[in-house]
Amino acid sequence: MFDVIIIGAGPYGISLASYAVQQGLSYKLIGHPMDFWKTQMPQNMFIRTPYELVQFPHPRNKFSIQQFAKETGTPLSDPLPRPVFVDYALWYAQRTGVAFTAELVIHVNKNAEHFVVETDQGSSFEAQNVVVAAGVRHFKYIPGLFRNLSSSLASHTLGYTDFNLFKGKRVAVIGSGQSAWEAAALLHQAGASAELIYRRERPVYGGGKYQEIVLRSIGNIFFSLPHFIKKKLLHIGTATVPIARFLRQYVEGKVNQHSGVTIEGVSEANGKAQLRLSNGRKDYFDHVIVASGYNINLDKLPFIGNNLKQSISREEGHDVFPKLHASFESSVPGLYFAGPLSAHSHGPTFRFILGLKKTAETITFAIIKTKKSKDVS
Ligand SMILES: Cc1cc2nc3c(=O)[nH]c(=O)nc-3n(C[C@H](O)[C@H](O)[C@H](O)COP(=O)(O)OP(=O)(O)OC[C@H]3O[C@@H](n4cnc5c(N)ncnc54)[C@H](O)[C@@H]3O)c2cc1C
Repeated sequence: MFDVIIIGAGPYGISLASYAVQQGLSYKLIGHPMDFWKTQMPQNMFIRTPYELVQFPHPRNKFSIQQFAKETGTPLSDPLPRPVFVDYALWYAQRTGVAFTAELVIHVNKNAEHFVVETDQGSSFEAQNVVVAAGVRHFKYIPGLFRNLSSSLASHTLGYTDFNLFKGKRVAVIGSGQSAWEAAALLHQAGASAELIYRRERPVYGGGKYQEIVLRSIGNIFFSLPHFIKKKLLHIGTATVPIARFLRQYVEGKVNQHSGVTIEGVSEANGKAQLRLSNGRKDYFDHVIVASGYNINLDKLPFIGNNLKQSISREEGHDVFPKLHASFESSVPGLYFAGPLSAHSHGPTFRFILGLKKTAETITFAIIKTKKSKDVS
């Protein structure tokens, strides 16, 4: 019987496991280490967070990215290459004594006493608490219009580690966010002829250290803010996230852009994808990459048992999100959510790695508090 089982070994899961080690809690961290960042993202992309704010948390502020750089001789730069972030995460895990159980959770349920977690390797573990830190991979969203195209003609940005298979091909990239710009830049570098198509009148560039610090601070106060301010702030984490400025040079003047247009029709013709745009244009592409992001939705998590799912209270008017307490605990005692699934209750900060410290500290101390009160009674 473990104090806590953490599902997902990405930045949130690793931070939580590190805090469990430091606080003497028994734990299982289940998931392949940094799998999403290693196998589902373009290998030569940059991370948008400025490197000074890329910090895995520690109660005494040890194991910073600067310490990692010094000890391993890794140069730090803005923007930070993805592999440096992955190496830093794994170094932090190793230095703080985090152990991984590299399996996939296939089922979680709760009986009267505790949680039972089963994995794809046939293991079964029991715990007093479970933290779901499974990221966004279960939530990729493709608008209905594109679902009629075969997968050889249309795909989501998720899962591309490079774009070399599109060399010499015409590819439409739909969207005007970070992932659309990233895909367009990397397609261009891979020798594809990419065309960006989006609704906005012009791309919005932004981000940078100051904005990220503000976003991190919001995470500390969001939970206790009045409803109308929360509503405005939640917008920051979704519709209005700008494209990181460093991407401008890889796209502007290199990739054709069709702004201010919507897609009115999508069909398959002679092995190509045909797009009909609101400006009257009709064009054919070898492939369409849809950069439409992720729709976070608790019901789409494949591993939480139906009875358990139904007993989790939801956010009013946004029932795809669990309603969480200040401690990130759901209405099911002992069941916590970290990362994107906590972003409605706790704010947009938690869609990003900026929320690691607050999450790891808060959940760990909540678990310790409950454990102590149970020990006393
Ligand atoms: C292309 C891209 C670029 C991004 N860039 C940034 C950035 O620069 N800065 C930033 O702050 N955020 C960025 N993000 C957002 C990013 O996803 C989060 O900040 C960060 O990964 C959140 O950490 P996490 O631990 O919640 O999720 P993840 O990193 O996704 O980790 C969760 C892990 O859980 C695993 N998992 C899922 N289901 C199971 C299961 N059943 N059993 C076991 N394991 C499971 C997943 O495979 C994954 O490895 C980016 C996202 C994308 C898609």
